[in-house]
Amino acid sequence: MKLETLNFQLPPGWSARTLSALRAKLLAWFDRHRRDLPWRADRDPYRVWVSEVMLQQTTVAAVVPYFDRFVAAFPTVGALAAADEQDVLKLWAGLGYYRRARHLHAAAKRLVADHPGGLPDDPAVWAALPGVGRYILGAVLSQAFDRRLPIVEANSLRVLARLFGHRGDPREGPGKAWVWAAAGAVLPAKRAGDFNQALMELGALVCTPANPRCRQCPLAKVCVANRYDLQAVIPPPKKAKDIVLVNEVAVAVRDRDKVLLCQRPADANRWQNMWEVPHAPVRDDEPPAEAASRVAKELTGLVVEPGAELLTVKHGVTRYAITMTCVEAAVRGGAFARGSYAAGRWLAPAELADYPVSSPQRKLIAALTTPPAQRRLF
Ligand code: SF4
Repeated sequence: MKLETLNFQLPPGWSARTLSALRAKLLAWFDRHRRDLPWRADRDPYRVWVSEVMLQQTTVAAVVPYFDRFVAAFPTVGALAAADEQDVLKLWAGLGYYRRARHLHAAAKRLVADHPGGLPDDPAVWAALPGVGRYILGAVLSQAFDRRLPIVEANSLRVLARLFGHRGDPREGPGKAWVWAAAGAVLPAKRAGDFNQALMELGALVCTPANPRCRQCPLAKVCVANRYDLQAVIPPPKKAKDIVLVNEVAVAVRDRDKVLLCQRPADANRWQNMWEVPHAPVRDDEPPAEAASRVAKELTGLVVEPGAELLTVKHGVTRYAITMTCVEAAVRGGAFARGSYAAGRWLAPAELADYPVSSPQRKLIAALTTPPAQRRLF
């Protein structure tokens, strides 16, 4: 970090005094306006770590109930390390990016084995853990141990780019190096964790992507974007992803009053070890019922007779916009064969909720567990 901050240039007219006044103002603003969030109750490194992992790619509002349930079930790193992965995934189900949960679990095991005395204040140890990148490292060590380590995420990136009037894209290339250098340069010697949180909080509450509330901003007097009215163009808009449209069929195979739920293998490209109603892309011009029969046979070895369409779920995964049509089907022959899946279980509707599933599958399972009087399936 030291080397990077040497490359950081303050805007014209700024002095060390400007910088220290800025730090004091932002910290004072944070002390007055910080949201009362469950992971801010103390500086317990375990709770800070869990919250920061959950907050990656996810909003504060979505994270709060997940965080509360997770730390109630696993109140310490030891409890998390001793947990079964299926229980960890179940408590994560719906938050998305499940690799985060698996990494958190694996890292907890390693920390408990190597550091039985407690979570260490050692960047080298944290940097070697699965799932710990530069952001998590800085967030945990600055907040829990007051280490002077920077963080950059979407909110602080926007604040820093506007504050210093950086016109390039701070998300990639030289702009990315610049924003990390800026984040390091603005950090005070003390209260680094609070300052990091203050930058993020200002971005979330005041320096919002559209219509920032500059009149209420503690940095307004020195902010370059505010002075030159550049808020709308700094940072530049994200490049649009090339979206790929995918149609899928999910087949809810029933055998009398049971439904087949399958476990994805540990080496699946995503949702590893989680459970699901079998699903796969539909071929061009393939009717859903025909696709359901084919998918059931290919993925499970079962011969099925398709029935009604149950529901359609739309969701996005990375650059894929997926429309998944769920078809119910009765088993007519064959036996479940592992291959595409690590396991298959025939479950009563009430048991389906006990398994970790992704968000789109949760919607599908909610439809499957609707009382029989309201549906035709059971
Ligand atoms: S003055 Fe406006 S643009 Fe500058 S940091 Fe504050 S809210 Fe953002």
